[in-house]
Amino acid sequence: MIEILSDKNVVTRKPHKCFLCSRKFDAGTDMNVQVNKYDDINRVYSCKTCKELMSGNWIEPNDENMFESDTLHEYMYGDNFSGTPEEYLQFKIKQNADRIERQRTCNHDNLKPDWQHRNYNRCVSCEKLIKKP
Ligand SMILES: [Zn+2]
Ligand SMILES: [Zn+2]
Repeated sequence: MIEILSDKNVVTRKPHKCFLCSRKFDAGTDMNVQVNKYDDINRVYSCKTCKELMSGNWIEPNDENMFESDTLHEYMYGDNFSGTPEEYLQFKIKQNADRIERQRTCNHDNLKPDWQHRNYNRCVSCEKLIKKP
């Protein structure tokens, strides 16, 4: 399991690539930077749009396709979508506004913050994402 060491919004001082959409953003952009530990310590930058897409509000957080996709683009293509992440966010907002199942419990009591879905915890036992109260 990936352990989150820190997670914050920053105004970048150098150009950075968003790890989800792979687009490069100039210095001076609002981005999210997360430092996490998975064997090694990793520092990952994500753009505002991808951060919102991954909040768990718009994409079903337990979607199997999400686990099998390495990047957001791969996931979007799997969803037959070929626009920009911004267009995809609008598309998901329309599609999922009131449809996403918001799971609040499982049968275990062993939750850790999830490294990608900031509104959710991940159960260490069954790996389900559980919406934070
Ligand atoms: Zn992005
Ligand atoms: Zn569980």
